Amino acid sequence: MSHIFPRHTAMRLPRAVKGEGSYIIDENGKRYLDASGGAAVSCLGHSNAMVRAALHAQLDEIAFAHTAYFTSAAAEELADALIEVAPEGLGRVYIVSSGSETTEAAIKLARQYHLEKGDSERSRIIARKQSYHGNTLGALSAGGNMWRREPFEPLLLDMSHIEPCYAYRYKGVHESLEDYGIRAANALENEILRVGPETVAAFMAEPVVGATMGAVPAAPGYFRRIREICDKYGVLLILDEVMCGMGRTGTLFASEAEHVRPDIVCIAKGLGAGYQPVGAMICSDEIYHAIEVGSGYFQHGHTYVGHPMAAAAALAVVKQLTSADMMPRINRSGEKLMALLRERFADHPHIGDIRGRGLFLGLELVWNRDTKEPFVPAVRLHARIKKNAFEHGLICYPMGGTIDGKHGDHVMLAPPFIVEDQQIEEIVDRLEQAINDSLSETGMP
Ligand code: PMP
Repeated sequence: MSHIFPRHTAMRLPRAVKGEGSYIIDENGKRYLDASGGAAVSCLGHSNAMVRAALHAQLDEIAFAHTAYFTSAAAEELADALIEVAPEGLGRVYIVSSGSETTEAAIKLARQYHLEKGDSERSRIIARKQSYHGNTLGALSAGGNMWRREPFEPLLLDMSHIEPCYAYRYKGVHESLEDYGIRAANALENEILRVGPETVAAFMAEPVVGATMGAVPAAPGYFRRIREICDKYGVLLILDEVMCGMGRTGTLFASEAEHVRPDIVCIAKGLGAGYQPVGAMICSDEIYHAIEVGSGYFQHGHTYVGHPMAAAAALAVVKQLTSADMMPRINRSGEKLMALLRERFADHPHIGDIRGRGLFLGLELVWNRDTKEPFVPAVRLHARIKKNAFEHGLICYPMGGTIDGKHGDHVMLAPPFIVEDQQIEEIVDRLEQAINDSLSETGMP
């Protein structure tokens, strides 16, 4: 038996031995259709020739040189390629090794920015309930996912959490989606005023919420109102696009569809497409300038910042993501997947909501479709769906319901951008089987 430390100590997982396009093959030759790229990571599938070639070439040049002494062509080119397509006003790229490292860096940069400007009181980050920004203690403090936080309370930092923008659950029956978006955003202003604007450094949110809610886009206008509020009170806007960025929702940056300009944006997962552990925090020229003319030093860093192998892989990924036909392809496949899900589950008694954007879609399962009452947590419906889907050779991303007993179990789908039409049909067939098997295990009709 191996001495590896598994996440679930009782689980015996198969070995993945090969990746082929949209499929992962295990040691027994079983093929799994990867409809979630792990956690929205493998956006180019599992055997991308351009990334493999870029990695081989980089390895032949140099694998690592510490950024205390050197920069590298790969890191510089990646930064330039990202800034060329990033939202207006963003000008600097800080390359790290994971999503949590991007959000940690963003929190620290936001705080240091205010310090550099002589605003030493602005240390508070406001985020949202039922959010996830990473598992390190700073990022965990920002996240509002109780299940992940509770064992580690008290957390390092005192942060506020406002209600998420979640129309399926919180929009009033007679309220328009737009009015709801404004109302949900106004919760930020209320919280800023409650804690004192002079104490708030930044607001952090995912444009399309992934792991904790299952591909939930904000209501139209929500982020525009959020931007207005941030500007009014001198609060920085950090968008966590670790999961929803890099084309996942049909635009390279998810914020493009919201028509807002973040001060800091965090990307990871799809940036390396699984070929290297890599993330990037991209900040505005204004923030960078404050550091430049202030202390001249970002008080942060990790050994593997700007790692040349990671940067080389990410550069090869970004080149493909920015090719002319990539976003249309994602949107076309996403529309097909959405249409099939809607067709298949339109009358399903336990599918309450089908949502998402691009190739980032989610289904919310509820006990009662009319009242939206979720399944009781003890049923562990999401865990059953995950197990049954895996048995049917489908990898998807089910998660349990949380917050005030209101949220249902959900299943998130994030297939690779190379997914073929026939594979999209297979995803829906296998998912339907897995959901129905899981419901019958629990004795549900
Ligand atoms: N932010 C978001 C929105 C995420 O979905 C995740 C990972 N699920 C993270 C941050 C943390 O990324 P990582 O696991 O690479 O540290």
